[in-house]
Amino acid sequence: MSDETSFLTPEVTSMPRFSGIRTFMRLPYEPEVQERDFVVLGAPFDTSASYRAGTRFGPEGIRRISSLLRPANVFHKIKPSEFLNGVDGGDIMVIPGNTEASHRNITAHVKAWAEKGAVPIVLGGDHSITLPELRALSSVHGPLSLLHFDAHGDTWDDYWGEKYTHGTPFRRAVEEGLIDPYRSVQIGMRGTVYHPNDLDEARKLGFLVITADEMREIGLQETMRRALERIGESKVFLTFDIDFLDPAFAPGTGTPEIAGFTSAEAQGMLRQLTDIHLVGCDLVEVLPALDSAEITTLTGATLVFEFLSLLAVHKQRTTSSSFSHSK
Ligand code: MN
Ligand code: MN
Repeated sequence: MSDETSFLTPEVTSMPRFSGIRTFMRLPYEPEVQERDFVVLGAPFDTSASYRAGTRFGPEGIRRISSLLRPANVFHKIKPSEFLNGVDGGDIMVIPGNTEASHRNITAHVKAWAEKGAVPIVLGGDHSITLPELRALSSVHGPLSLLHFDAHGDTWDDYWGEKYTHGTPFRRAVEEGLIDPYRSVQIGMRGTVYHPNDLDEARKLGFLVITADEMREIGLQETMRRALERIGESKVFLTFDIDFLDPAFAPGTGTPEIAGFTSAEAQGMLRQLTDIHLVGCDLVEVLPALDSAEITTLTGATLVFEFLSLLAVHKQRTTSSSFSHSK
């Protein structure tokens, strides 16, 4: 159980996991922008939500339960801290009710970290926060592939005349040239929509859309094979809306949709992404006040650990193979 390096400071073996002040997985808290492999940031902005608000407490809830996580991933046979140097950069300043000012801060902050080589891992917040992340990362990396897990496409044009909401970021991202929709995929769409053609609208923008019904038809392996084929070699932003999961597995969210996926299915799909070139990711729409027994925050935290594991596997491949835990 003894380890030279670990995310956890102090080590889990020297101090119980439930002790101490919370950062994501007890990473060091380093708000100063610096050269790192990754940074975990909170974006506690939730006033672009179209139904239930409260995801401003998402980052706090995810950090709280993340202390439960242990440092090694048994599926990938990897301990991310052996390959990655990362910190918790704290929360980005947001202004409730002022979407554009909050988005400007998110863009500036994410861009500053990305320019130092860090892969930003952002905890939402409502899904509007992904747009300013994409602005930041496309300014550093060029137009990105989007890999989008969600019950909703979030490609509506506006809500009550508002262009910047949690239901519109991906239409804006296409319009602004931040992502290449022909290299992007949306997975898991289901539920009631405003108009029978809503999903076709996303397809008209260029996205590959694989609905929940289609996923059940073709299977999850085939779903991920099509997604990976679509993405190819391009730089990828992975965005995961927790409502991709069934409300039974993630009750704490603002716009739940029935007939979703299990946490095991989501974890299994993410684990197939070891070949993608990930330059940024986020996990959004966790709403702790509506959670039950910390199911949703735990799921969110664990899926973020899967993101970290993907970065670690990628790094492992690109560094020398002198590590004892190499696969
Ligand atoms: Mn969403
Ligand atoms: Mn959603």
